[in-house]
Amino acid sequence: MNGKKFGRLTFIQGRNGGRYPFCNSLFIDDREKVVIDPGSDEKLLKKFDMEKGIDIIVNSHYHEDHTSFNYLFPKAKLYVHEDEAPCFKSLEKLLDFYGLLGTDLEHTWRGLLVNHFHYRERTPDLEFRDGDLLNFGDTTVQIIHTPGHTIGHSSFFFPEEGVLFLGDLDMTAFGPWYADRVSDIDQTIGSLRKLLKIPARIFITSHEAGIIEGDITELAENYLEIITRREDTLLNFLEKPRTLSEIVNQWIIYKKPREPRDFFEFGERGMIKKHLDRLIKKEIVSTEEGSYYLL
Ligand SMILES: [Zn+2]
Repeated sequence: MNGKKFGRLTFIQGRNGGRYPFCNSLFIDDREKVVIDPGSDEKLLKKFDMEKGIDIIVNSHYHEDHTSFNYLFPKAKLYVHEDEAPCFKSLEKLLDFYGLLGTDLEHTWRGLLVNHFHYRERTPDLEFRDGDLLNFGDTTVQIIHTPGHTIGHSSFFFPEEGVLFLGDLDMTAFGPWYADRVSDIDQTIGSLRKLLKIPARIFITSHEAGIIEGDITELAENYLEIITRREDTLLNFLEKPRTLSEIVNQWIIYKKPREPRDFFEFGERGMIKKHLDRLIKKEIVSTEEGSYYLL
């Protein structure tokens, strides 16, 4: 799979099979040499740079596993969605978008982002938005804004090649992430529906599967179903009033405590909060004195 080509596009599999803390990248070999999400493999990316010279890096969103090797290309132009440009310019904004500012995890994550994931403040050279068409020579890519996972999460459609880069809407059996302060469940659902309308034949995911050929409707429906299952389990647990800590300790999202515990607890809490907020908005759940209960 690694190195598989679709016309001028080359799939670069992330280390560890593209699993976190790595992701898959896509290289575009045109008059301008482009890497989408340089979070795959430091050595391979350096090799591409040595042989071809990277002119542009494009990030699908601000997450650390997608941007960790941006630092290898300080002279390349950086393209990101306009809603996320602030997190590339400022570490404070990045922590704010994650929802880490003022939490117990802020200090740890500040260190991790800078030292482990090589975060460097940097002003994007181009801020794209939904529907934009970018040209890198003969290759055209259409920006599909797919928010929910993060606020500016974007997918990339190459009409000529029939390739759709899905990013972190990755159809894994685990299900979607929407734990950041700027994440949103309904936007995630809307984005998946939007992607199903794109006439692509080949789908690239940032993790796990990597390349999916054919129809993804069933995969996408299963992926959406996970959101429903999480919410059903939460509703069952709310058979009597529960505090947020009690709910988080149920590990409804991750099924069991996982290591590193801090990281997964942050995700569990963030996603449960998103479900609770959504149920409160729908007037199915209410909250009083720190307890959540069914209406
Ligand atoms: Zn992500």
